Amino acid sequence: MILWGLGAMGRLMARMVLADPDLKLVGAVSRRVSESRAAGTDIAEVAGLNRPTGIAASPTLAAAVEKAGGAQVVLQATSSLARECAPELQACLEHDLDVVSIAEELAYPWAGNPKLADRLDEAAREAGHTILGTGVNPGFVLDTLIIVLTGVTGHVASVYARRVNDLSPFGPTVMRTQGVGLSVDQFREKVADGTVVGHIGFPESMHLIAKALGVRLTAIEQAREPIVSKVRRQTPHVLVEPGYVAGCRHTARGLVGGKVFIELEHPQQVRPEAEGVQTGDYIKIAGYPDIEIKTAPEIPGGIATAAIAVNMIKPVLEARPGLLTMLDLPIPRGSARRAAAVVADG
Ligand code: NAD
Repeated sequence: MILWGLGAMGRLMARMVLADPDLKLVGAVSRRVSESRAAGTDIAEVAGLNRPTGIAASPTLAAAVEKAGGAQVVLQATSSLARECAPELQACLEHDLDVVSIAEELAYPWAGNPKLADRLDEAAREAGHTILGTGVNPGFVLDTLIIVLTGVTGHVASVYARRVNDLSPFGPTVMRTQGVGLSVDQFREKVADGTVVGHIGFPESMHLIAKALGVRLTAIEQAREPIVSKVRRQTPHVLVEPGYVAGCRHTARGLVGGKVFIELEHPQQVRPEAEGVQTGDYIKIAGYPDIEIKTAPEIPGGIATAAIAVNMIKPVLEARPGLLTMLDLPIPRGSARRAAAVVADG
């Protein structure tokens, strides 16, 4: 397999694949490798792994395929947006490769861009290859996990879920898109002009749930509110003074015929423990019977995203061609065969 994007997630994926006796990492595409340096740059150097891999990173997919040969699938970890991913997906199909992507919008691209989704689906079918969008969220906590839980209900009346997480491990891009460190006024201005977006993935998760449960959402309402800190909070990337924004409380309601059918909440902030906030994932399904589960602390976003992407490689290789979703594939599962030490520290 080939990794496309060696940022925070690509690095974690590299560790998991290198630890797996059933998978073989043969190449990687990274913007940080220039044509001139390409020949000798080990993935370990670009991805900050502890030991050399003997596998070279390449500046383009074409170069990676030429160098590696024999690859069947690409793990794409470059962007959140379907339209940004599309040319890369097209290139993968042209090189005869399946794709597992963690781009949030690809979890259900018909939610935001149905024309592009149809076009990608058609291109994948014509090429005889599979494209899947997955991740921790969207891809698992606020959709697949909920859907699996409904499998033991006789009737579903409504769904409520909340993921409370810690943004501290993330870098400057996430701080900017969540509005961390801003004043409340600046936060509201940037929500209005679209610079602060909060969580990317609510419409995708909601459509996945609705499709699985056999209903059609008539509207999706979203709100983004600042989480204002009472104390000073600091991470390597941001400083939040008291009275300033520590994160974004992003909520969404999916309606069916004027009634709320799905309600999702995703308050994300840096250093939640500074004010005694416990991270965690909570799911409540109202129906017959009612079901409620909770996991605290949160399922860790980085490890979980890399893991589910790597865990979906085998099902994707065995799947029918097309642009698929988590609904189309077998339930995700982990591996007891990977070398724990390599997974944990590279
Ligand atoms: P990151 O910013 O740390 O890394 C992205 C890397 O991709 C960077 O190194 C960048 O240089 C590289 N890149 C971008 N375009 C490229 C291209 N065309 N060719 C080669 N390299 C390219 O981000 P990350 O934390 O690794 O996450 C990657 C993406 O996945 C982000 O958009 C993030 O929002 C998304 N994500 C989704 C989930 C989910 O649950 N679905 C979870 C985590 C991250």
